[in-house]
Amino acid sequence: MSEHHTNVLIVGAGMAGLMAAGVLAEQGVKPLIVDKGRSVGGRMATRRVEGGLADHGAQFFTVRSSRLAAYCARWQAAELVYRWGQGFSDGSLGEATDGHPRYAVHGGMNALTRYLASELGDRADIRVNVTLTSIVADETGWWATDSSGEVYRANALLMTPPVPQSLALVGNSLTPEDRAALERITIAPCLCGMFKIEGETTLPTPGALQHPDGEITWIADNQRKGISPNARIITVHAGPAYSQLIYDWPEADVLDRMQEELEQWLAPEARIVYREYKRWRYALPTVRHPDRTLVAEAVPLLVFAGDAFMEARVEGAVLSGLTAAEDILTRLR
Ligand SMILES: Cc1cc2nc3c(=O)[nH]c(=O)nc-3n(C[C@H](O)[C@H](O)[C@H](O)COP(=O)(O)OP(=O)(O)OC[C@H]3O[C@@H](n4cnc5c(N)ncnc54)[C@H](O)[C@@H]3O)c2cc1C
Repeated sequence: MSEHHTNVLIVGAGMAGLMAAGVLAEQGVKPLIVDKGRSVGGRMATRRVEGGLADHGAQFFTVRSSRLAAYCARWQAAELVYRWGQGFSDGSLGEATDGHPRYAVHGGMNALTRYLASELGDRADIRVNVTLTSIVADETGWWATDSSGEVYRANALLMTPPVPQSLALVGNSLTPEDRAALERITIAPCLCGMFKIEGETTLPTPGALQHPDGEITWIADNQRKGISPNARIITVHAGPAYSQLIYDWPEADVLDRMQEELEQWLAPEARIVYREYKRWRYALPTVRHPDRTLVAEAVPLLVFAGDAFMEARVEGAVLSGLTAAEDILTRLR
């Protein structure tokens, strides 16, 4: 088994990890990023379904901060990101209500993270299909081991997985106070169905519907969204409380329940020809940490970041990742 040495090890190549890597790379610090997924992205997830594409994690992102606005302007100029809707009104993703545009990504949300990874080029070492199974500290730094026995040694560690997963890896190294602060964070699951339709949907313009307080909170037509020109694939999400309630239902029962809701939004001649399922164990934080990151006490440099820190969602993950990189740079110097 080989041993890999790095200054900064980032666990997770989702938005938080990749944005942090960008800031470190700009300052001449080359991080090693590991992710257990088959590709980068984490919850920025797009899946091939029966000749089409479906965003099955994050559906869009909003921009409320000037920091993300600057990045978003660049991504729009690169013709990667586009404005999908202006806000929600009567449950539809249509004209302005809250004044915050909803941005989507050409080719699916995952394309943004692939772009960020390729922009890093050789200024970062990104390894996918690497599942860390243990992380321990000694006086020289961090020692992480993956499921095939490879060892990664780092001076500084940035943890961006959903916090319960991070705690399972490094919880034993923490002070009781830091551990308690992180254990206060809670993250709800999300059950997701993907359906292929032949025919049209009657979902309101521009092809998506949101019912934040319902059991089924989201129905979106990926073809009308623009990411699946060759097949009409619909994404359906159950809300956090309902997902928790029916989490252990058999897959077919969950899909039947979603289908019942979806059928109300099909044109008369349309029919469902295929369906599949994804269970997100950790989808959306319900109790977050009050600060953008947590820098652990009494251990080698260790920072926790992600969408459970201060602001939620994609924007929260971005802002937390940027702050985490700054925390690390300040302390390495
Ligand atoms: C169904 C769903 C719908 C959503 N809808 C929206 C939306 O419309 N708008 C919005 O803004 N946000 C939405 N979100 C939330 C958004 O996707 C997240 O806030 C954001 O992508 C989180 O990024 P992150 O980098 O913090 O975490 P993640 O993307 O989860 O990245 C963490 C990474 O850590 C990796 N990892 C975990 N454990 C290990 C390990 N042991 N070894 C190696 N790697 C590991 C994972 O593989 C993962 O890639 C949604 C999420 C879900 C699931």
